[in-house]
Amino acid sequence: MTKPLILVVEDDKPVSKLITTTLRTHDYNYIAAMNGAEAIMEASSHNPDIVLLDLGLPDMDGVDVIKKIRTWSNMPIIVISARSEDRDKIEALDNGADDYLTKPFSVEELLARIRVAQRRLSIMQTEQPQQGSVFTNGELKIDYASGIASLGEEQIHLTPIEYKLLCLLAANVGKVLTHTYITQKVWGSSWENDIASLRVFMATLRKKLEASPDSPRYIQTHIGVGYRMLRIDPGDRDEQ
Ligand code: CA
Repeated sequence: MTKPLILVVEDDKPVSKLITTTLRTHDYNYIAAMNGAEAIMEASSHNPDIVLLDLGLPDMDGVDVIKKIRTWSNMPIIVISARSEDRDKIEALDNGADDYLTKPFSVEELLARIRVAQRRLSIMQTEQPQQGSVFTNGELKIDYASGIASLGEEQIHLTPIEYKLLCLLAANVGKVLTHTYITQKVWGSSWENDIASLRVFMATLRKKLEASPDSPRYIQTHIGVGYRMLRIDPGDRDEQ
């Protein structure tokens, strides 16, 4: 496997240095950009595998960088934001970012997010053709043609809404989906802000899906933001 190329967009020099040093010592290739204009230029000319994008840039809003990149590429974008920028984080996800890291973050967190993005990347690159009628992830299987979800040999009995939720998460495996995005997709815009209902449906879905709903394997909660289905590696039972 060739080394993934990561575009690091960060105007804060010490943070940029921390990230690039980490990448170098863990055998990743990288390009560094200090502002949004540079980021867009580097992204279009080098077509990196993954983008790490700080939202607070000197020349433009990080969300605009995402919108721009999304006009031509689905490359995984991990947003880096300060704790106070919660709303920006959600806006970034709704505009096509895949994941986020909150400052200050540890080297381990950074590497874990990159591994999740790499997994998503390999799904995009290799699994596209077989995305036809059956989805599999760990023990979970969804047969879209028959509308049946199962865990191992056991069929999971889902309500139509739970099934819709599961399919939406599966279609975006590896990506954090915001509450607004999920409610809009599942119920339409009139449900936009009914996060409490979403939480209830998610809880019943998890009860059926997860062996231990308190330490979920498939569906991760991002408090205040949304949910994500994790891609489960064969032989790797508890990533993240
Ligand atoms: Ca910044």
